[in-house]
Parts: sequence; structure tokens; C-alpha cells
Amino acid sequence: MKKALSIFLVILIALCSFVACKHEPEPEPAPAHTHTLQKTDVVAATCTEAGNIAYWTCSECNKIFSDATGTTEISQADTVVAALNHDYVEAYDSTNHTTTWVCSHNSSHVLHDAVVGQVLLTVGETMTGYETLEAAVAAVEAEATAVITVNEDVTVTSYINVSGGRNITIRNRAGADVTITDGVTNTEPKHSAATILNIQSTAQVTLTGNTTGSLTFQGVVTASTPAKRTMFTLPQDNAGQLTINNGVIVQGHYSSNGAGVIRDYGTVIINGGTFKDNAVASGNGSVIFLGGAGSATINGGTFQNNNANNSNGGLFQVSNDAGHSTLTINDGTFTGNAGKLGAVVNSYANSVVTINGGTFTGNKGYNSTADANHTAAVYCQGTFTITGGTFTGNTTGEGTKLLYDVYVNTPATVTIGDGATIEVLGPAT
Ligand SMILES: [Zn+2]
Ligand SMILES: [Zn+2]
Repeated sequence: MKKALSIFLVILIALCSFVACKHEPEPEPAPAHTHTLQKTDVVAATCTEAGNIAYWTCSECNKIFSDATGTTEISQADTVVAALNHDYVEAYDSTNHTTTWVCSHNSSHVLHDAVVGQVLLTVGETMTGYETLEAAVAAVEAEATAVITVNEDVTVTSYINVSGGRNITIRNRAGADVTITDGVTNTEPKHSAATILNIQSTAQVTLTGNTTGSLTFQGVVTASTPAKRTMFTLPQDNAGQLTINNGVIVQGHYSSNGAGVIRDYGTVIINGGTFKDNAVASGNGSVIFLGGAGSATINGGTFQNNNANNSNGGLFQVSNDAGHSTLTINDGTFTGNAGKLGAVVNSYANSVVTINGGTFTGNKGYNSTADANHTAAVYCQGTFTITGGTFTGNTTGEGTKLLYDVYVNTPATVTIGDGATIEVLGPAT
């Protein structure tokens, strides 16, 4: 203890002498400087050019102040007010079919003051009006990114090829409920024949609702004649992409052969929207047929009263192609759909299906024959994983005794996790 105390004293003495050595007279403060301030007036920012706040600069020391008394020093950067950027608001004249986009900051900024047409094509800041959706899509050049705004109801009378390299968004005019009617009679004897859009190699198409309003694709509601084909097709090179977002309604489409709504050998992403009252006669999948290495991801949406009663597979049929088609359902509401061999999903041995969520209620795996074994809401073959979702009240319909939410056929690798709520309504015998 004594030793520690003496070491402490030695250090203290050393420190004191060090401080004493360093003691020198303070430098004289610079003589008080009276700033000579000059004001820079406010310059309002415009859409394209930055402005500035009012500030004062000393002509002697060049310091900048935010006040006339030179109290609060700021930097040159602090004086800058960033450019506003244009804020174009869509305005539509329904009498003349003219659309103008007027800047909310400055009404003299008008993107186009007289674009005539039911359909408006926007590429960059160039806007052109067309009378038909066909003409607007045809005007999009290779490698272009374009937005097509459908101002008023139109009817498509010949199916539209979207060639590779194009990226096209089709939407309704803001605030309007707009309908694109399928007026195409496509009698080509090919499953791949489309009635509205054929999304070719590397083309990307997004169908989306605008900030308000809706975009409806209206199919024909009835009849097996004339022959009708799939509404949207992505051909077999697996390179096309179709994205469907909220605000889109696809309804009443009838396909006499092929898929009901989408034939998918590419990439389909459904983030929302409503698919209702679509049907397929002798084809597969009332909404989507997946082939080759095609993939579909369902992140949301409402699927209601779609019918594939005479086909194998309800809403989604995942083929047996060697490419291993992939269907992933993350969310969505699936209700009142009907289909032989799986009212919602029908998958084959080479397919990969994952259900992570969604509500599957009141779907009917319909089969009027005595063979009830292969009917259910979800009919699984291949690699089938269910990690979540709620399955209740799905039945096999008339003429049958057996009821299943999920039916597993061989060959299959099926994984059902704890996150799934599945109501097993009958024995699998
Ligand atoms: Zn100064
Ligand atoms: Zn502007």
C-alpha cells in the first residue's frame, strides 16, 4: 500500500512540472472584425433549375450568414433550394379524347396539349394518341419502354404481338374504369393462339391499375362458337414476362381449347387483381396453364368462380414438361372455382409447386363420374410443398362420395408444414 502511494506521488509531481513547463501566454485574440454584409435575394426554384434562400455574404472574410446581422453562419450549400422537378397531373377531355399532362408547379409546363385518341402511348416525354390498342402497341419500337394509357373503352379485334425487347405497361386512365373487350375470333388450331396479347421472346408486359380506377379485360361470356383462344400467351422460348397488378380485372373469358386466360411458357407474376368467371372447355387451367420451364408467382389477387369442369385442372395447371414448370402461391383468395382433378391446382410429376399462403375455400373438384378419387381443391403430383395457407370447405362435388382439400397422387414428393391449415374432409381410399 505504501509503495503504491509513493508511485502515485511521483506521477503527480511529474505531471505538475509538465503542466508548468507548458504554461505560456495565451495568443492575442484577433481584433474584432465587423462583417460587411451584402444580401443575396431569394431565387425561387423552378421545375428544372435550383434556386436559393436569402443570405448575406461578408465582402471581407467571405463568410455566409442566414441573417442580416451576421449571427448564424451557413455554408454555400445551405443556400441552395433544389429544383422542384415537374409534377404532371393527368387531365382528360372526354369530348375530344384529348389528354393533357399539366405540371402542378407551373401550368405552362404541358407535356402534350392535344393528343387525340382512345389510347395514349407515352415513350419518354413523347405522347401519341391512337384509336386502338393494336395501333399503340405496334408503334412501340424495339428496346423501348412505353406506357400505354387506355383512356376509354376499346375493343381488340385482332390479337396483338408484343415483339421481343419491348417493355410495355398498359393501364387505365387515372380515375376511370376502362374496359378492353376481347373481340377477337382466333380459330387457329393451336393451343398457343392468343386473343389479346402474345408476349414474344424477351418482351415484358405489365397490366396495372392506375392510381385510381380500374382496367378490365372483358372476355366473351358464353358459347363454344366461334372458337376462342387463350387471352394472353407467352410462347415456348420461356423468355417473355407478364406482370399483373392491383386494379386489373380479368373476367368472363372463354377458351375452347388451351389455357383459359394465360398460357405461360415464360414468367408470370400476379401481385393482385381479380380473375373471375373465366372458363376453359377442353383445355387445361381456367386461369393459367404452365408449360416448359414456365414459372408463375401469385403474390395476391382474387380468383373466383373460374371453371375448368371439363378439363384436367382448375385455376392452375402445371404441366408434366421436362422443363419443370414452377408455380408458387404466396397469397391470394381462391373461392368458388371448379375443375376436374383439382379445382385450384392440378400438377403433374415434373412440376414444382409451392404454396406458402392464401385462402382456399369452397372450391369444387368436380367430377360427375363415379371416379372420385382424383378430385380435390389441390391435386398434387411432382414436388409439392405447402408451408402455409388455409384450406376449408372444398369438395369434390356431385356424384361423388369422397371429399378432399388436398389429394396426393403418385409420383409425388409432398411436404406439408405446420403453417398450413388443411381440413381433411374424407378418407383417401
Ligand atoms: Zn466578415
Ligand atoms: Zn413543371
